[in-house]
Amino acid sequence: MKAVTYSLHRRFVGLVDFISFCYRLLCSVRTGCANSRVGLHFIGKARRLLLVHYRKDYVRRQLSERQGACRQCGICCNLLFTCPMLTNEGRCLAYGTCRPQACKVFPVDQRDVEEVRLAGGQCGYCFKEQEQEQEQRQELGGG
Ligand code: SF4
Ligand code: SF4
Repeated sequence: MKAVTYSLHRRFVGLVDFISFCYRLLCSVRTGCANSRVGLHFIGKARRLLLVHYRKDYVRRQLSERQGACRQCGICCNLLFTCPMLTNEGRCLAYGTCRPQACKVFPVDQRDVEEVRLAGGQCGYCFKEQEQEQEQRQELGGG
């Protein structure tokens, strides 16, 4: 009886250790994604993909408020990885044929503009109100 109890106890401790390990691993991955540029661009790509397919109204509204114009800098074709459709001359081989919807609507919001900035570029588009809100939040956070 004692041996059975001991065995059960060891299994329980093992299970708790395993759950605790998984939790710590998940936390590390989450923090890593939030702090690394790779994680940020990965989240950005996934977010845009979901937005163009499942939040079409949001995308439409955002595009109607977007200001500026594309500077053809190609930075958005180099986020996370260089798109294989991008030529050395900076042209898109999929343009006019099978260019993904997420590319057609880039940038969808100020977060995308910020993503370009973090990649060292400056997108020609902006979302004035969102930009101001973001600046205010940063000021409040800093103050
Ligand atoms: S498909 Fe064209 S627009 Fe989209 S990332 Fe590739 S090169 Fe850029
Ligand atoms: S980052 Fe902005 S300005 Fe540059 S190519 Fe993409 S949409 Fe155009």
